[in-house]
Amino acid sequence: MKFQRNRHTPPGPAGDRRQLASSLAWLHVIGASFSVAWLVLPHPAGARESLILAATLGAYAIAAVLFVGRSRLSLAAVQLSMLGTTAVISLAAAASAEHGSVYGLFYLWATLYAFSFFSRRQALVQVAAVAAAYALVLTVQLTPTPATEDFTRWVMTVATLLVAGWLVRTLTERLREGEQHLRLAMEQSSLASAVIGFDRTVLDVNEACARLVGVPREALIGTDVERLWHPGDVAVHAAAVAEGAATGAMVQNRPETRLVRPDGQIRWLSVAATVIRGDRGRPLHLFAQFDDVTDRRLQVARQEALSRLARLALDGAETGALAGQAAAIAASGLDATHVALTVSSSAGAPAAVAGAHGWSEAGVQSAFAAGLLDTPPGGTLIEHGLQVEGLGEASAIRVAVRTPDGLLGTLCAHDRERHFDREDALFLEAAAGILAATEARARAEARLRHQALHDPLTDLPNRALLQDRLQHALARAARGGDEVGALFIDLDHFKVINDSLGHDVGDELLAQVAARLSAELRESDTLGRLGGDEFVVIAESGGEPAQLVRLAQRLGAALRHPFDVRGDELTITASIGIACGDGAADSNALVRDADAAMYRAKHLGRARYELFDAALRERVLRRMTTEKRLRTALAADELDLAFQPIVTLEGDAIVGAEALLRLNGPDGAITPDEFIPIAEETGLIVPMGAWVLAEACRRGGDWQRLAGRRIDVSVNLSPRQLTHPDLVGHVQMALAAGGLPAEALILEITESVLLGDAERPLEVLRRLRRLGIRLALDDFGTGYSSLAYLTRLPLDILKLDREFIARLTPGSQEAAVTAAIVQMAAAIGLTVIAEGVETAEQSQVLQAIGVELAQGYHFARPMTSAALEAHPYLAAGAAVPGHATRDRAPGPVNRQARAGRQRQFR
Ligand code: C2E
Ligand code: CA
Ligand code: CA
Repeated sequence: MKFQRNRHTPPGPAGDRRQLASSLAWLHVIGASFSVAWLVLPHPAGARESLILAATLGAYAIAAVLFVGRSRLSLAAVQLSMLGTTAVISLAAAASAEHGSVYGLFYLWATLYAFSFFSRRQALVQVAAVAAAYALVLTVQLTPTPATEDFTRWVMTVATLLVAGWLVRTLTERLREGEQHLRLAMEQSSLASAVIGFDRTVLDVNEACARLVGVPREALIGTDVERLWHPGDVAVHAAAVAEGAATGAMVQNRPETRLVRPDGQIRWLSVAATVIRGDRGRPLHLFAQFDDVTDRRLQVARQEALSRLARLALDGAETGALAGQAAAIAASGLDATHVALTVSSSAGAPAAVAGAHGWSEAGVQSAFAAGLLDTPPGGTLIEHGLQVEGLGEASAIRVAVRTPDGLLGTLCAHDRERHFDREDALFLEAAAGILAATEARARAEARLRHQALHDPLTDLPNRALLQDRLQHALARAARGGDEVGALFIDLDHFKVINDSLGHDVGDELLAQVAARLSAELRESDTLGRLGGDEFVVIAESGGEPAQLVRLAQRLGAALRHPFDVRGDELTITASIGIACGDGAADSNALVRDADAAMYRAKHLGRARYELFDAALRERVLRRMTTEKRLRTALAADELDLAFQPIVTLEGDAIVGAEALLRLNGPDGAITPDEFIPIAEETGLIVPMGAWVLAEACRRGGDWQRLAGRRIDVSVNLSPRQLTHPDLVGHVQMALAAGGLPAEALILEITESVLLGDAERPLEVLRRLRRLGIRLALDDFGTGYSSLAYLTRLPLDILKLDREFIARLTPGSQEAAVTAAIVQMAAAIGLTVIAEGVETAEQSQVLQAIGVELAQGYHFARPMTSAALEAHPYLAAGAAVPGHATRDRAPGPVNRQARAGRQRQFR
């Protein structure tokens, strides 16, 4: 044992005998060597040197025997050799021819040795042997001395030996006791303890320690302690041991250190180490005690994990969010490297991985594909020695996550170092239980919410939800400037069916009616049941009265086919009331109005729809007549174009004109704001727009010839036209037919072309531009106006909306914004035209900002083409700075001329 290095260690079993024999051997070697020195040095003449030499050789021989046999010699053999020693010393003493022979001193060595290593009795036997031998020596001594003197010498010598022996005995016993205590304490301690040298060698361990490490005691002693620690903890330990060696004072208590057992298992130890010191305070080695906290640590971790999971669930985390965290939390509770949570399909088959911890994306997918994450048939399964791709041989637990409604998924843990047991499985089951409970609660809550807001018979929104939806729809309408429609539907003579065929049949019929009505609605509409046979439809975006009428017609028609209720063929009709309101309308009032209209429908004979009030009826009627007129307008030659000049702010010279569609006729004029939306909705805008293009190009062609310079013609294009496949062809034909150069045509578009599928219109715009036609963005500053559109659209001109211009006063915010827009437009090469300029002040502000072109009542109202042609500036071909055609140089425009022109325009 290396532990023997400690010189205070009492002689123990095997190793100690070695020390016993070898130290005695050394005594003989040293004694014999002194004897050789005595022979060489001057010594009494009468000495029998040959005898002394024999005794010396005898001592060497005993030393040799002791050395050679030091591991095998028994205590008895050593004790026996002591008699030889005594004999050898006595022989030398007798032969030395000295009175008080120096060889007698060797008796002291032997006695001290006996008292420190042998039992008391054996030591006394040794003293007795010496006493006897010494008496003999004194008797046969060559030099004659008086007997009394010899006697005194003998008594003193034996007494000295006894006193010295007693002293040694007492001392060694005291020291031995301390060692014994430590050894006993260590031996009997249930705590794993070890004595470790500062060179990190294990010097001694107790049984508990050997059990903890999983290595037999004998094998453990002498190994490097570093080999026991987890690679991740070695550095910390080496540093701690080194520090202990350097400072000599260390009580270290690292709560968690990993020990790696030969079988690869990892145990967590709490380590307490203290420095053991020698008698003069010199640090000798470390005494360390280890507590296996693996299980305790896991228990705490499991409890922590469960309470964390429970807290998350109680905080109302959704199952989806929980799934992501659950894997990580379960991993911490299990001290497992890999955890995954799968979700099952409604049929119960594993469908996907919902959350994973420690797994690589590819790893978890391949484990999933290999069925390693499948739900175990029994609900819980612990496996060992499982081959997992990317992980090697692993231990695994799989636990089903189940609610009363069915299987949700599976919680799986995999780890290479852990050897999962029943306790681990119990933990994972508890975690799965929390997940299941959370989901069950969420489902129950959702069910309750649904029940609170839906009609149980038809599963349609009930009155409360309907009111809520209507309020939201109105709020949206308020933002978008739209209208919301409400249809109140009441079945005719439903009571008769209920009374004659029974409530069951009535209920079934209501459910079927609900299904048919739903089928007629769009995504944005809401159908609800107020109770009995009353249904309400909220129509958003499409709250336009005429559309509501069409919807009512569709719903009425949908009910007309007979219903098959339990073999009975039932026919039913409905009375429908229509109301509509804008964002400012009250939701209760809207339903009430629709209800009132429904009563009128009943009153007027049932199986029909009615509009709430005269104004609404008027609107619907008007729209329908407009639509009818639009359909015939083209053929009836009722379309006409007005042209509004576009002028330079600088010189008021005409650079072009915008073509504006007019619908005239015997029934009076209709404004474009009214008929353009209807034309767009019905698609009539396409033929009408084609007419506008042709007419505008024809007129424009005339102006060029008349003025002898370029006069631009601006034509409004609706989004509907842009999606028409022949648009580019139409434009080319119109240009050719009218003799208008492409450079003189400007097409005005709005941002709405970018809504929806924008790629196609964008391509059309690019093609138009390649023809040489310029594109203007109309009404900029309203609606969705975003600077981003300016770069996304292929544009040449930006038209500032008239609402925007109307707010333009010197120093106003609009002025600053306009200035910024103008600068930016210039930066990306866009020309700016201000629309709807009505006052001189607006004109001045615009000019100050740097806007060059404008259009508005301040300069000219829309006029007939003839009026424009008669205009002196067009006829005279007044030049426009920066807008001159190649063949004519720009000329000055004087103030007087401008004033005259203005008079004429108004
Ligand atoms: P827009 O493109 O913004 O046309 C300008 C409108 O502003 C014209 O109304 C014009 O008369 C009016 N306006 C011009 N200067 C002033 C002014 O100083 N003050 C005020 N308050 N208004 C002014 P209009 O002719 O009623 O046209 C209305 C809208 O109808 C046009 O707005 C345009 O979006 C559309 N539209 C007109 N003609 C056509 C057409 O041929 N095709 C298409 N797709 N849309 C057209
Ligand atoms: Ca326009
Ligand atoms: Ca405009």
